[in-house]
Amino acid sequence: MCEKQEKGKMKVVETIKEMKEMSNRLSFEGKSVGLVPTMGALHEGHLSLVRASVNENDVTIVSIFVNPMQFGQGEDFDQYPRTLQEDMEKLLPLNTDVVFAPAMDIIYPEGFNTHIEVRKLSDKLCGAFRPVHFGGVATVVTKLFNITKPAKAYFGLKDYQQTLIIKKMVKDLNMDVEVITCPTIREKDGLAMSSRNKYLTSEERKDALLINKALTKVKRGIEEGSISTDKASEKLREILCTGSHITDIQYASAYDPETLEEINGKSFVGRSILLAIALKAGKTRLIDNISVNLNR
Ligand code: AMP
Repeated sequence: MCEKQEKGKMKVVETIKEMKEMSNRLSFEGKSVGLVPTMGALHEGHLSLVRASVNENDVTIVSIFVNPMQFGQGEDFDQYPRTLQEDMEKLLPLNTDVVFAPAMDIIYPEGFNTHIEVRKLSDKLCGAFRPVHFGGVATVVTKLFNITKPAKAYFGLKDYQQTLIIKKMVKDLNMDVEVITCPTIREKDGLAMSSRNKYLTSEERKDALLINKALTKVKRGIEEGSISTDKASEKLREILCTGSHITDIQYASAYDPETLEEINGKSFVGRSILLAIALKAGKTRLIDNISVNLNR
């Protein structure tokens, strides 16, 4: 395929048959494929992954699919923003080669009955509040890997737990994909970019800024030695609780970045720890995290 050489040409593929034919042809030609799985409503966070893939691969495929399997009952599957046309306008100038945008019944035809579950890691943090979420993610990502056959797949550290789960799945199931993680992209005021930020009222958005404020303040305190890791949860919550639109703090604490177990007095000197938060601002669920190096 020579789409890459023909700058600005982007192919939209909607069927598995066509996508597989293309990926088989690319692998026959020895071209490396980078995959960026997304649910669309693209922002700079997604685009940073696309840029990384375009830099490192012969061909970049961006999948856009709002995956029903990763939404629980009462979650925002129906409201989730669907902006395919705008998304394609953002992807074209980045030299994206292929947009894979299948319909729901293409990915989940009648009778679909298989489920991938990465145990343990999927029960922690977000998994405790969204019990079907990571199974849905693991299942759709497996399908996308099989359909597009990427050498590398790109995921954002904004969804830290998701990156751990995908890496574990790839290892456990001997998948031939290198999982690349990319830093969280933030708005100028520090709010982590998310397709769900669109749901926030201006008052809720102001309170949402407390998330990054809490993470950076507690990180600094831990690094300087003025906050012990055991006090991280208390200190994070103290800051978050000042927001009157913060309605539900689901978790906010310091975690082992490999197991996602909460750090309870365990020594992490010379290692890094993860500060992570999930809460609701109004009705909108937001997550964020930051890594802290304990070099003391
Ligand atoms: P989503 O469309 O929300 O499923 O996200 C698709 C990919 O984009 C995932 O790998 C996310 O982790 C990544 N992503 C979402 N927001 C950001 C962000 N602010 N910075 C970096 N990556 C992000």
